[in-house]
Amino acid sequence: MNIHEHQAKEILKKFGVLIPNGVVIFNLKEINEKIKQLHTNDIVVKAQIHAGGRGRAGGIKLTKNLDELIKEAKNMFDKNLVTHQTGSVGTKVKRLYLEETCSIKKEFYLSCLVDRSSAKIAFISSAEGGMDIEEVAKKNPDKISTVKIDFTESVSEKNITKILKPFALSENLKKQASGLIQSIYKILITKDANLIEINPLILTKDNNLICLDAKINFDDNALYRHPDILSLKDTNEENLIETEASKQGLTYIKLNGKIGCMVNGAGLAMATMDIIKLYGSEPANFLDVGGGASKQKVSNAFKIILSDKNVKGILINIFGGIMRCDVLAQGVVDAAKETKLSIPLVVRLAGTNVELGREILKNSNLKIISANNLADAAKKIIEAT
Ligand code: GDP
Ligand code: MN
Repeated sequence: MNIHEHQAKEILKKFGVLIPNGVVIFNLKEINEKIKQLHTNDIVVKAQIHAGGRGRAGGIKLTKNLDELIKEAKNMFDKNLVTHQTGSVGTKVKRLYLEETCSIKKEFYLSCLVDRSSAKIAFISSAEGGMDIEEVAKKNPDKISTVKIDFTESVSEKNITKILKPFALSENLKKQASGLIQSIYKILITKDANLIEINPLILTKDNNLICLDAKINFDDNALYRHPDILSLKDTNEENLIETEASKQGLTYIKLNGKIGCMVNGAGLAMATMDIIKLYGSEPANFLDVGGGASKQKVSNAFKIILSDKNVKGILINIFGGIMRCDVLAQGVVDAAKETKLSIPLVVRLAGTNVELGREILKNSNLKIISANNLADAAKKIIEAT
């Protein structure tokens, strides 16, 4: 789960990290009242959306007085902001962060994340702040420092020295930076975050290290033990179908292909998407119906898959372990009739009562194409679409 910049900064602040003074607004009428909490006329208006690259897209504006602030706020609020991370439609701006402007001497990059391949926590730092770190990694990989730490250990002085090396800080600032690194590490561990990214971390003209931007991503599977974090969820930022699916106990992720997939089990769902790609097409979604797929669940899954207008055919791939193939087959037949399914449907069943399941599909009078194995199923649905 992602959160907004202003929420991430609130967490950083609680852990003792320096951030600029700021206020969040949810509608334009709040401006006059809220800016009383700010102590300068130089204010940055920052669009709050779950995507980076706002600066270059017009979502970050420096203003010098109330008139300018209101003008920029009006330009952003309720408009779709398109950045290189949002897709072409963009994300509607429903909240703005108004922040006291900082005078920047230097911009750095600092992040802390779970590095899956090494099963460690990695700190990434670079003096090339404010830019896309992916760009820096491509063009100047030597300008990026990566330090890996075992999550059962604390961050040693030696590690801190390595992390800070690209910043070339004075002795005084090193102390401040050391505290910042310890705080970030503590947040990542105690809040079960996957990523904390400060870009830019700035050195101000009066020699303070301040987090000017902040992004935090949390591990969805650990949210159950962090109700405080879960309450920060912004449904405005979520894919509507994905939210609806999760309410029905279905794990659905929309993709860009034309073949809808309905599978039980995440591993089998991954394999199904792989084989569709292997035979030259693209899956329209990931969908795990879970262990016991009732008629109701299959019917809901059909509706969710079909709400994506790119879908030209559906591939159902079910392994009947706990679930019996005949029960599932009946569910598919009923759901197909109920939703008046009109696009090609390929079903591959295996496991308990598979013969009975195939009989039910065959006798249904529906145009269901039966497949014997994964390769056969992929070939048939690609041909049919
Ligand atoms: P992003 O483009 O979505 O990553 O948004 P950021 O919050 O990182 O802002 C982008 C850029 O705007 C920063 O790298 C800064 O150069 C600039 N910026 C943001 N806030 C301030 C500020 O208070 N003062 C100055 N001078 N520049 C700022
Ligand atoms: Mn940024």
